[in-house]
Amino acid sequence: MLIDTHCHLNFKAFKKDLKEVIGRAKAAAVEKIIIPGAKIDSSQRAVEIASSYPQAYAAVGIHPHHAAEFAHHEKEALLQLEKLAQNNKTVAIGEIGLDHYQYKNYPPIGEDLKAQQISLLKLQLNLAVEMKLPVILHCRQAHDVMLEFLENYLKEKTLNGVFHCFDGSLSHLEKILSLGFYVGFDGNCTYPENSRLVQAFSQIPLKRLLIETDAPFLTPIPQQGNRNEPAFLVHTAQFMASTLKIEADAFAGQTSENAARLFNLSAK
Ligand SMILES: [Zn+2]
Ligand SMILES: [Zn+2]
Repeated sequence: MLIDTHCHLNFKAFKKDLKEVIGRAKAAAVEKIIIPGAKIDSSQRAVEIASSYPQAYAAVGIHPHHAAEFAHHEKEALLQLEKLAQNNKTVAIGEIGLDHYQYKNYPPIGEDLKAQQISLLKLQLNLAVEMKLPVILHCRQAHDVMLEFLENYLKEKTLNGVFHCFDGSLSHLEKILSLGFYVGFDGNCTYPENSRLVQAFSQIPLKRLLIETDAPFLTPIPQQGNRNEPAFLVHTAQFMASTLKIEADAFAGQTSENAARLFNLSAK
């Protein structure tokens, strides 16, 4: 059994064939799927899907991409998230975080935007603490800022979570592990140019490793070029297990156990 801990079945890409996609996941032994939100509407959709399919779970949150849109009504947004977080299939606050990568056709990443991202992150971390839920952290080109912030935050609050789709340095990784967080890897670790990701997951204690698709993005080899979907988690799991010289079943069992522990899945 595998657990896809990060899959956007709530996005448009799955609007037409959600049922078939979930069916194929089941056939590929991907037995549980966590669906993170990126805004209020996609968080709502994640909860809806989780309510309709026993193997689906929701995470609710606002992605740092959308920080500017919510800068003037953070409080209202937080109230809406809180409501969604109360659903019994909601297992995390996410995805939330910091993203300093300059995407095409997006406003420049200036100090204002960075401050808005931090503000929104802090409010959502507070919500997670209040709801006793773990967090799914998105962190792109912002690990120094994130880790300094988190280290201070955790001096006063208790919180656990995952750095999803990890792409930091080995020293970042060391710090993440020392904070007690989990680390998630996706299909992009199967790409030949990403040997740094192989180096990273090879250094993580097995008990802290999570696997995810981030579907519809980051399709693993040999499906590259196609839309990613949870059934393809098998390829990432096989690649990681064989790289680590662990039997595929043992690797699947261990990462599933980790996901169930962090997200308290057996209780929901
Ligand atoms: Zn992300
Ligand atoms: Zn995502």
